[in-house]
Order: sequence, then structure tokens, then C-alpha cells
Amino acid sequence: MADNRSERNAGIDTTRPSIARAYDVVLNGKDNFEVDRAFVAEIVKVVPEIYDVAAYNRQILGRGVRFLSGQGITQFVDLGSGLPTEENTHQVAQRANPESRVVYVDNDPMVLAHGRALLAENDRTAVITSDLRDTEAILSDPAFKNLIDLGRPVAVMLVGILHHLHDDEDPRAIVEAYMAAVPPGSYLFITHFCASTQESRDAERKYLALLGTGRFRTPEEITAFFDGFELLDPGVVPLPLWRPDGPVPRKLTVGQQLMYGGIAYKR
Ligand code: SAM
Repeated sequence: MADNRSERNAGIDTTRPSIARAYDVVLNGKDNFEVDRAFVAEIVKVVPEIYDVAAYNRQILGRGVRFLSGQGITQFVDLGSGLPTEENTHQVAQRANPESRVVYVDNDPMVLAHGRALLAENDRTAVITSDLRDTEAILSDPAFKNLIDLGRPVAVMLVGILHHLHDDEDPRAIVEAYMAAVPPGSYLFITHFCASTQESRDAERKYLALLGTGRFRTPEEITAFFDGFELLDPGVVPLPLWRPDGPVPRKLTVGQQLMYGGIAYKR
């Protein structure tokens, strides 16, 4: 459990749940506070499987990064990267190719306090503590320019983050800004909360009321983020169905349908 007193001066607000820390709770991490655990306890009431949902998301992150490495991608921009956990993007990517470079972007001060040392563990990884909505600032950040060569293909990762952007923040324009900056041969990797069941609608109400964000978009709305790019098989699907490593159940549970994801290619 994190210690309130030591965090007080780091700009960390322990009176309200944070997206990064609430996610840390469902990943069974230690970088969270009572307020984050209380929020998750409320979500558990409508989606008891929420811990499994976080695991499905981390599993597709690993499968997606391995897939992209297999396509020859060695540059990854992981937007809304979260607190360090197991199998972080750079660990998966650098296992596939030690030369892989990863830039993590997150705006949570806890990621700065606890994540920087762990995530930026070699000279091919960096953590930028900024708001990903400020696309120009990210793309011109010295740490970004130092690691990412925009003359070569890049994987733009928005994994488990776009649902935390409201419609009036124009998440589509943010996706477009990053994708416009990267050259043909690049990829877009998205996972997203999906309005797939009554439980997902109940969860959305709780997220919006208690966390302030959590827009559960329809499969069509999530697919629209990929407009203009070549959506790769199997398209935008419930996470366990995206290029699974093993057999998948015929009938998906509520939790298995709570997030959808996919990867597209920029021609
Ligand atoms: N991408 C990781 C994954 O899927 O395992 C972490 C996802 S976590 C649910 C979302 C992360 O996005 C949190 O760490 C949060 O702090 C971060 N985040 C939320 N809004 C952000 C913003 N506007 N700019 C940068 N990071 C943001």
C-alpha cells in the first residue's frame, strides 16, 4: 500500500480516485490508495469480473506488441501507459528485438513518482509525464525526438485510454494528429471500453459519476477511430478474440465483452 504522507508533496491527490491507480488496483498492484480501492469496489458491484478485464487488456497488449514486433516495428509510442506492471511494452518489444525503442506517455504524477525508474530502465526507453491530448508537446518533446525517428514506422498505442477522453475533447482528432505524424508502414493499436451489455452501461454510469471519465463507446464508434487506415484481421473485436494464443470460449462473459480492440496499418 502506498503511504499517504510520503506522496503528499508529489502532487498526488489521495482524496479522489485516479485512473492510473484504480487500474493498478485491478492489476493487483501496490501503488494505490483507499479511495482507489473504494472506487473499484463500486465497479465490482456491477461487473464482478473487472479484475479479469484488466488481465484481458494486459494480455492483448502483449499479443499486440509481439504481433507488431513480428511486422518489423521497433518504435513504440505507448500513450496513457499506466503504472509499471508485469510485461510492460518495452519488456515485450525488447525481448522480440533488443533494439526496440519505447516512449511512454502518462499524465499521472504517480507514474512519475513510481514509474520513471522502472519504465525508463535502459537508454531505449523514456517516460514523458504529459497530457497526451497536447499532441504537439509530445511530438516535440526532446525525449520523444531523441528516441523516435519519424522517418521510420512507429506503433501508436492507445491501449485502455481513449474511453477516458470525452467526446468534446475530440479523441478522433487526437488519434489523427499522432497518425499524421508517423510515416506509411506505421500501425495504430487501440483497446477501448465497449457499450456491449446492460452491465457495461451500468459500469459507464459509475465510472462517470465516481471517476469523472469512462465513455463506453459502441463497436461502430470504436471502429471509427481506425477510419482511413487498413484494419487488420480480425477487426475490432472483444479482447479475448483478437488473435488469441489459445482456444477461446464460444460464449463470452460480460467481462470478456467489456473491452474491444484492434490494430490497423497506415498504407
Ligand atoms: N495503457 C495501459 C494498459 O492498457 O495497460 C494503462 C491503461 S490505464 C487504464 C490509462 C492510463 O492513461 C492511466 O495511467 C492514466 O493516468 C493515463 N491517462 C489518462 N488520461 C491521460 C491523459 N490525458 N494524458 C496522458 N495520460 C493519461
